[in-house]
Amino acid sequence: MSRRRSPQRTQSTLRLVFSACSACVALIVVAGAQTPPKFDSNRAWGHLQHVVSIGPRPAGSAAIEQTRKYIKDQLSAIGLKATEQAWDDETPLGKVHMVNLIVSIPGASRNRLAITGHYDTKLFREFPFVGASDGGSSTAFLLELARVLKARKNALTIDLIFLDGEEAVIDWRGNDHTYGSRHYVEAARRDGSLASLKAMVLIDMIGDRDLGIRRDSYSTPWLTDIIWQTAAKMKLSNYFLPAPTTVEDDHLPFLSAGVPSVDIIDLDYEAWHTRRDTLDAVSARSLQVVGDVLLASLPQIEQRLTAGR
Ligand SMILES: [Zn+2]
Repeated sequence: MSRRRSPQRTQSTLRLVFSACSACVALIVVAGAQTPPKFDSNRAWGHLQHVVSIGPRPAGSAAIEQTRKYIKDQLSAIGLKATEQAWDDETPLGKVHMVNLIVSIPGASRNRLAITGHYDTKLFREFPFVGASDGGSSTAFLLELARVLKARKNALTIDLIFLDGEEAVIDWRGNDHTYGSRHYVEAARRDGSLASLKAMVLIDMIGDRDLGIRRDSYSTPWLTDIIWQTAAKMKLSNYFLPAPTTVEDDHLPFLSAGVPSVDIIDLDYEAWHTRRDTLDAVSARSLQVVGDVLLASLPQIEQRLTAGR
């Protein structure tokens, strides 16, 4: 801020403007009408129902290809184009074809905020695992968020990244996990685009009917503070709990690369990695809470990142 104005003068100037030009009032009303749409959990729920109906969606499967088509079609319907970042990764089960989907929503700055989530589901051979919260909720959430952010005036360019291969092909050890985030960060490092990535918000397993998101200790404190304090102001601390936890997830490769990151995840989920992670175990209300809190947190996140700190 480089200019100061005396409050008195501002007031009299305003009075003059209002009395001289009644059309201005109409203009202000029109400007007010352009506030971006709110996160609509009914729409998100529709996406969730659709992706769950596809069935199990592990990396490399025909079903995840079908999921990608749905994501791309839905984005295209609101005028957004998803770019595919495709590669074949080495897994304990051999080479698996994986694809991250990236949607860039322009903002005032070319500096970027990434909002990410995985869209694959864990492979279980013993039962059909449809991952309503684990894989489904993040996919549905990002799709609805895309609609809201497209209509919003964003200070930074926002990249929504649908990550593939978050789940272990066999067990969460060694490199058998977070294939998509590791690939994205490595590629961004190589092509130099990592420099413009100023922060990352990870959304994972937010569908739980009994939503309780604890503060992840690996996540960047200032970014976590903004979101949890916003939730507290909105009287939503019964969902964004002050209790700490530690979670290994897609944020770790970003953190290792020096990108401030936060993981919004409810891992206290009874149905986690069981046949019970179905639509019965999740609720639209949970998606709404996270959508409302994240959107209310964005101005402060943008402020922090554009202040060049
Ligand atoms: Zn999982």
